Amino acid sequence: MILLERTLRIFVLLEVHYPKFIGGLTNYTSPFQMLIATVLSTQSTDKQVNSITRDLFSRYPNPASFASATISDIEQAISKVGLYKNKAKFIQELSKQLISEFDSIVPTTIGELVKLPGVGRKTANVLLNDWFNIREGIAVDTHVKRLSYRLGLTSEIDPFKIEKDLLEIIPNEKWGMVTHLLISHGRAICKSHRPLCKTCFLMFMCPRTGVVEG
Ligand code: SF4
Repeated sequence: MILLERTLRIFVLLEVHYPKFIGGLTNYTSPFQMLIATVLSTQSTDKQVNSITRDLFSRYPNPASFASATISDIEQAISKVGLYKNKAKFIQELSKQLISEFDSIVPTTIGELVKLPGVGRKTANVLLNDWFNIREGIAVDTHVKRLSYRLGLTSEIDPFKIEKDLLEIIPNEKWGMVTHLLISHGRAICKSHRPLCKTCFLMFMCPRTGVVEG
C-alpha cells in the first residue's frame, strides 16, 4: 500500500474511533487567553494548566493586565506549572509586545505569532487551528511526534521536519484534526512506554507490528 493511501486509511479509522476530542485546555474565553494557556502547557500537563487558569484569567484577562503586573505576582499565580519563572517572563514580554506591535490583538499568521516570546510553531498552530480555524500547519506535540514515527508517516525526529512530512502526505482539509486524533490514540492505545499493539485497530497499517497490509 503506498504511503498516501495508507495515511488516508489511518486517518479515516482514527476519525471513526475518536469522533470527539476529549481533554485539552479549558477556561479561556479569548484568543489571548488561549495563547497564554498554550504557552503555560509547554512541559506541563493540560490538567495542571487548567487547575490555575480560571483564577489566572479572572485576575489577568488581557495583555494590559499582565503587562502592568509585577513578575513576582505572575510567578506566584502560575507557580503550579513547570518552568513557571521562565513562563512568567515570557507572558509579560509577550503581553507588552502584543500591545506595542499589534494593538493588543493576537495576530493570525504563524510568521507573526512565532516572533512573540515563548511562542513556537506548536503553540502557533494550536491557536490558529483551534481558535481561528486557520490551517497553516500541524501542531507537533509529543504524541504527534511519537505516533508519526511509529506509523511510518515520517522518519524524522525534529518537530519542524515531522510537520513538513505530515503536510506533504495529509490533505489540507484534514490538517485541523491531525493533532487531536493522534493525541487521542496516543493516550488511549499507542502509549509512550507500552503501546497496546495487539488491540490496536491500526495494527494492519502500522510498520511497527510487521504486519502492514501489502
Ligand atoms: S500498532 Fe502499536 S505502534 Fe502501531 S499505532 Fe497501534 S499501538 Fe501504536
